[in-house]
Amino acid sequence: MSNWTLAIHGGAGTISRAELTEETRAAHHAGLRAALEAGGAILAAGGSAEDAVVAAVMSLEDCPLYNAGRGGTFTAAGTIEMDAALMRGDSKAGAVTGVTRPRNPILAAREVMRATPHVLLAGAAADEFSQSQGLAMEPPEYFQTAHRRAQLEAAKAARVVALDHDIAAKMGTVGAVARDTSGALAAATSTGGMTNKRAGRVGDSPILGAGTWADGAVAVSCTGTGEAFLRCAAAHEISALIRLGGRSVTQAAEEVALRRVPEAGGQGGLIAVDAAGLAAMPFGTEGMYRGVWRSGSEPETAIH
Ligand code: ASP
Repeated sequence: MSNWTLAIHGGAGTISRAELTEETRAAHHAGLRAALEAGGAILAAGGSAEDAVVAAVMSLEDCPLYNAGRGGTFTAAGTIEMDAALMRGDSKAGAVTGVTRPRNPILAAREVMRATPHVLLAGAAADEFSQSQGLAMEPPEYFQTAHRRAQLEAAKAARVVALDHDIAAKMGTVGAVARDTSGALAAATSTGGMTNKRAGRVGDSPILGAGTWADGAVAVSCTGTGEAFLRCAAAHEISALIRLGGRSVTQAAEEVALRRVPEAGGQGGLIAVDAAGLAAMPFGTEGMYRGVWRSGSEPETAIH
């Protein structure tokens, strides 16, 4: 049987080392570990990269510590507007932006891929579509946590649009990339976006080629200042550097995360896995919640 690889991230807006208590550290590692186990079990049983990245992202969406699904960040209007995208190496894809009710926005993205001729659905119509597909729907209170409301108040007071835990650095999102035993690749990303963002703002996560991408060469999921990732087509640029520029996945991922994104006026990190199952997880921030699990080895998680 061929090898498999699963890499995940829980956002590049990590709690700073100085503020991280032992309890919080353990809770974040447990959340990452659960997501790796959810996706890795599928790959180990010979399942698809698509199913694995969806399972890993659902696990992080259900965990209130991470900025996606339950525990998503608030807009300036006090609402939670979520974005998600799924893409496979054979170019099948689905995405949603500005959804407020599906419990797992990544499942809404998958339904767009499976049940419509479209790639991206937005807003109230995307909520209605999700409901019509029989997905679990939740009231606004399900997604809201006291912790995120406090972050909104802090971001408003500081007059910034902020990324997840780090008001100064401004980031948070979840994502997964995988290569399965058949050699297929897939990428999934899900986010509440940036704290105190303008209602209606769309970031990079649901935009194919910016925050999420998969083709025959590489699968990518990004986290960071969405506007910068949009400006440099970050996720697709990694594929171009590999396919046309002869770079390794590590070189291509570092070039984009550490050079192109900062040049485009932002910061963040990303996870990428190539056709051979090699993974790269560079970040230009203090930390990025992340994990990787390859066939034949133990799952690993890290924060800073
Ligand atoms: N990239 C996401 C966005 O801009 C946020 C993040 O990753 O922290 O919506």
